[in-house]
Amino acid sequence: MANERVYNFSAGPSMLPLEILERAGSEITNYQGSGMSVMEMSHRSKVFLKIFEDTRAKLKKLLNVPDEYEILFLQGGASTQFSMVPLNLIGKTGKADYAITGNFANTACKEAKKYGQISVAASSADRNHTYIPTQDQLKLDSEASYFYYCANNTIYGTEWQYVPETNGVPIVCDMSSNILSRPIDVSKYGIIFAGAQKNMAPAGLTVVIIRKDLAGNELPITPLMMNYQTMIEKESMFNTPPCWCIYMLGLNLDHLESLGGVEGMEKIKGNKAAMLYDCIDNSRLFTCAAEKGSRSDMNVAFRSASEELDAKFVAEATAAGFTNLKGHRLVGGMRASIYNAMPVEGIEKLVDFIQTFDKNN
Ligand code: PMP
Repeated sequence: MANERVYNFSAGPSMLPLEILERAGSEITNYQGSGMSVMEMSHRSKVFLKIFEDTRAKLKKLLNVPDEYEILFLQGGASTQFSMVPLNLIGKTGKADYAITGNFANTACKEAKKYGQISVAASSADRNHTYIPTQDQLKLDSEASYFYYCANNTIYGTEWQYVPETNGVPIVCDMSSNILSRPIDVSKYGIIFAGAQKNMAPAGLTVVIIRKDLAGNELPITPLMMNYQTMIEKESMFNTPPCWCIYMLGLNLDHLESLGGVEGMEKIKGNKAAMLYDCIDNSRLFTCAAEKGSRSDMNVAFRSASEELDAKFVAEATAAGFTNLKGHRLVGGMRASIYNAMPVEGIEKLVDFIQTFDKNN
């Protein structure tokens, strides 16, 4: 079975470790003697509550989440957080600061403007989002209810290498495409959120880590389902949570732990990204748009000098078993998404493929 699988460079949903897919497969009709699939269980059953609590505890341990924070397992994707964040937080002063380093931060910013006075603290649009602004470039308002940024820009292939200093203003961070790839200091954040479908689990689960004292100040128009306080009080079970995805996350977290947790993963992913960037930097045909120092270790965006050659590369790579390498339509070229589950052999083989293509064209 394993040798029929392709190296899938999809930006998300993306690869999951083969080991956990096989484990889920082996339990799919009868989870640990329960006589049913996790997909068929009541979310209030003893068996599922154990899966839920164990998964939450594993995430708390792996990310070293302090007790003042709640971990929520929600639905609606990361995009629903674009609305939930302002609805719940902006009431404090009516103002918020956003750093625009790509498409998703921009969408979040536009959404927030419906609910309050939003300032752009920095934007990298002037150089087509090929860089991350420095701390000095951030125009921060000490009266902002929160400061918002997107840690890894999935489309443009850039990643913040520092946590901004906001002098007490709570930081909200979209970590959809780099969560669990490196250690983070959760105590520096007010809210961290991430769609699961890149580094965690199948699509359908959104993980939110929120400092509990930030909840409970929502605008009166906030829908019940979008109120963090409701979800904190009901421990993510105000309604039916995404049970199957939570189970899959639990399996994936066990796998991550076996690799040395986020500290272990930081080394693994750093090595994979360095191999691929070195290969591109040393090629004749290909360049990376993202500036050094701002490059993402998760999404490697690169291109040749011609669209025809890019198309040829993508076609030949696909035929050779490297799929989903076409860049996002906003950027063009190619993009290799190399999340936690991409094995190092996938990178080694892609590097070989790029070198051969570079020689032959
Ligand atoms: N933020 C980032 C950084 C993303 O990469 C994505 C999806 N690619 C989103 C938000 C939107 O996530 P979702 O599709 O779960 O709403």
